[in-house]
Amino acid sequence: TLDLPRTTDEILTTDLHLVQSFADLNALKQSGARTAIVAAEGAMVRDSDGNELIDGIGGLWCVNVGHGRREIIEAITEQLQTLDFYSTFYSFTHPAAAALSAKLAELAPGSLNKVYFGNSGSVANDSAVRILHHYYNRLGQPKKRLVLSRQGAYHGSTYLSIAMTTPEYSDGWSRAEGLVHYLRKPHYWHEGDGMTEAEFLDALMEDMRSRIETLGAENIACFVAEPIMGAGGVIVPPKGYHKRALEICRDYEIKYISDEVVTAFGRLGHFFASEAVFDIQPDIINTAKGLTSGYQPLSATIMSDEIHEVISGPGGSFLHGMTYSGHPAAAAAGLANIALMERDEIPQKAQVTGKLFEETLKGLEDIEIVGEVRGSHFMIGIELVKDKATKTLFDPDLNIGMMVAQKAQSKGLIARPLGHILILSPTLIMTPELIARTGAILRESILEVM
Ligand code: PLP
Repeated sequence: TLDLPRTTDEILTTDLHLVQSFADLNALKQSGARTAIVAAEGAMVRDSDGNELIDGIGGLWCVNVGHGRREIIEAITEQLQTLDFYSTFYSFTHPAAAALSAKLAELAPGSLNKVYFGNSGSVANDSAVRILHHYYNRLGQPKKRLVLSRQGAYHGSTYLSIAMTTPEYSDGWSRAEGLVHYLRKPHYWHEGDGMTEAEFLDALMEDMRSRIETLGAENIACFVAEPIMGAGGVIVPPKGYHKRALEICRDYEIKYISDEVVTAFGRLGHFFASEAVFDIQPDIINTAKGLTSGYQPLSATIMSDEIHEVISGPGGSFLHGMTYSGHPAAAAAGLANIALMERDEIPQKAQVTGKLFEETLKGLEDIEIVGEVRGSHFMIGIELVKDKATKTLFDPDLNIGMMVAQKAQSKGLIARPLGHILILSPTLIMTPELIARTGAILRESILEVM
């Protein structure tokens, strides 16, 4: 019953009405170059010219269980046939949202037992800040408003979540004036300046403390951090960073939001990375993407009992909500996705295959223009540099990342260029053969652009 454009020409003509995200719209208009993905199965996708490509970016860091999983598709269909839609506004609830909230409470660390659903990672981050502002209002501390974020962070594209994102993304816009303050980027390789990693960590923590002292803890609501920065170039902070940052937050009574939109649901080998990998129990975990493996749009803002206790106390309603918060089909997708991950032990297996992926790509560091391969498991960034010894970057106009990504695509791999960095975040069901092929294609592609 779906009457869709089929050939590349038909798709690209129809597509002239579509506005892409995070694209150079002028370049797209001039070159017309687009890739139409028409089908997907397992770890692979197919373009409109019939090319089979390794989905090296897992949709957009999200198709964790792989494409075409019948179990999820059937759960969505079954749910739609029973209850297509009802909201979770006012006093309404429905079985799928209820069951998924209980499941997330079971999987999330410690006292993170209350779940607010949204429909994107951006909305999850936005919601977390609104929830905390409401929380502090209730506590009679309405001045506690400011958000501490970091240079290099990515938290989304709504007006608030883009303001929480590294400031380059909202240059020229108002950036929710004065609300968000940016701490130093925790990237040792570039910012370590002759320090040991431990000294660099001390410097980062000093920066955090002094910024809090300057702004006044009584004005700060929260600190927000991705466990590993994703879109900022896959940056793993120095060892102990999150634990120390959480201690500082506790000292100053600032809430800690862990943005696990990318790092949860197996990408780092666990359902959530905050506690299992970084040994912290934040006050809020935000997640999306792998929550449904991309089969439906859904996010979760998972808050502590303590926060919920305050916002559910007497004194008026919680004036926040999206029509599709906890949409039945999305909640069903989340439940089926988690059931599949548990049945097939996908996070546990990703501990092994993800390590192999990481080590295979690390092997590219012997190439002259590969400066640093970083990240963990199925979340990897490859930084290309003109001169490794001095860490000198290529001229941005050269678009080195795009050049390598285009070569890779012509050889059967989708990689995501981010300036001079290549991002790899494939499905978690990559086999050793596909991992080896990914490494080989990247090596050939990089060598060919040198
Ligand atoms: N937070 C992080 C860490 C992300 O990587 C992203 C998206 O890439 C978001 C938030 C925003 O999620 P969404 O694109 O679903 O709004």
